[in-house]
Amino acid sequence: MSTENISFASLNLAPEILRALEEFGYTKPTPIQAQAIPIVLEGRDLMAGAQTGTGKTAAFALPLLQKLLPLASTSASPARHPVRVLILVPTRELAIQVEESVRAYAKHCPLRSLVVFGGVDIKTQTPHLMKGVEILVATPGRLLDHVEQRTVQLGQVQMLVLDEADRMLDMGFMPDLKRILALLPKKRQNLMFSATFSNEIKKLSADFLTDPVLVEVARSNAAAENVTQKVYLVAKENKHELLAQILRGSDASQAIVFTKTKLTASRLARQLQREGVLADAIHGDKSQLERMQALEAFKQGTVAALIATDVAARGLDIDQLPMVINYEIPSAAEDYVHRIGRTGRAGASGIAISLVSPEEEKYLKEIEKLIKREIQKEETFIPARATRAPHSDHKTATHKSDTSEHEPRRTATPRAMAPKKKSGDEWFDKPYEPTVNATTADKLPARPNSSKPKGEVAALLGGLRRQN
Ligand code: AMP
Repeated sequence: MSTENISFASLNLAPEILRALEEFGYTKPTPIQAQAIPIVLEGRDLMAGAQTGTGKTAAFALPLLQKLLPLASTSASPARHPVRVLILVPTRELAIQVEESVRAYAKHCPLRSLVVFGGVDIKTQTPHLMKGVEILVATPGRLLDHVEQRTVQLGQVQMLVLDEADRMLDMGFMPDLKRILALLPKKRQNLMFSATFSNEIKKLSADFLTDPVLVEVARSNAAAENVTQKVYLVAKENKHELLAQILRGSDASQAIVFTKTKLTASRLARQLQREGVLADAIHGDKSQLERMQALEAFKQGTVAALIATDVAARGLDIDQLPMVINYEIPSAAEDYVHRIGRTGRAGASGIAISLVSPEEEKYLKEIEKLIKREIQKEETFIPARATRAPHSDHKTATHKSDTSEHEPRRTATPRAMAPKKKSGDEWFDKPYEPTVNATTADKLPARPNSSKPKGEVAALLGGLRRQN
């Protein structure tokens, strides 16, 4: 189906929603939105093959908001704000981002949304939940904690979204999902989004969806279309030097660097920091606060290289990232597609570089099979070991207060940004711009003297309320 000439207005969305989209800078629906919105508005169940970066969040959020509008209430009574839409997601980061998008799209609608996820004190979430919210975005475990504590009622859920369903299965959420589904009214609309269509996903969709309409937007290899992919064949022991060389030599202002393990991510971030690269790691062993701080610093441009594992990076909404580097290529070819989907979004061009050691070449073959193309191989030149910067105790890249007057600060050049949504939440609204009097660097910057970021992030943890 061609979606070329479809406009948001032609999808019969309410003026309140259209206004938010306009303010947000969305001019036309993405293919998944053009296809999914009419189906959801019709009330049908949906099985959508779409990964992060395709605009899938708005594909389910917009029609759900539209369906909730007639039920919106200005009453303060919690009873008038039951949970009507439940959006289940696999990770905290995705939960935050999805709710942020929902809240932005709903900014002119009198509807309340809230996000709940584990890793933070449940007590901070309870009062907000108890006040009543129509749209609840949750990770499965924390939602069940709230169910056990009787701080949430799910008896009036009319619409359920399983976002990144494949990842939920990978992460072992099936038992939790089953428990949650048993708590929901039988009569409801179900939407499932998954980047992949494994047999398990097909089974899940057969179990939980009723007569679903299947929509699949260009996936897998399509993610690669505007991404220049390169492979450097390199011995394992030379990867670090090569990475540093690529980071320094690149015109790109920022990059996500993927590793297979948490340990490698931490180690690599520390090594790069010692060598003067503004690096930080984001992985499952980091506390929620640390992950948020790293992401915040990356969004601000004070971290230039974010070292991430697949699970931590999954679903992160980082727009128009110019470069993704696979320090280790994934053993599951699908993960490669997800990783490189971090760049080249919304038509922008991007670079995806993979450092492949001889032991990894078998995985590379699988990837090339999946994306149905051979990836260009580059010559590698490993210089003599670079002189390392003196060791520093500082572990994290810096924030503005740490900038020394004597040592001109070089920060990451902010990425060209599409019009950015306003969420009402300061933390997320911070643009990808350094807030210091920074000299912009045309390359990845050296790391100045730094100390741990002092964040207002802690305030965020207590401030999960998402309401207009
Ligand atoms: P998602 O796949 O939902 O994570 O969305 C990926 C990115 O695309 C997000 O930054 C969205 O804000 C952006 N986006 C979603 N829909 C549109 C649209 N119709 N026009 C422009 N950008 C969009």
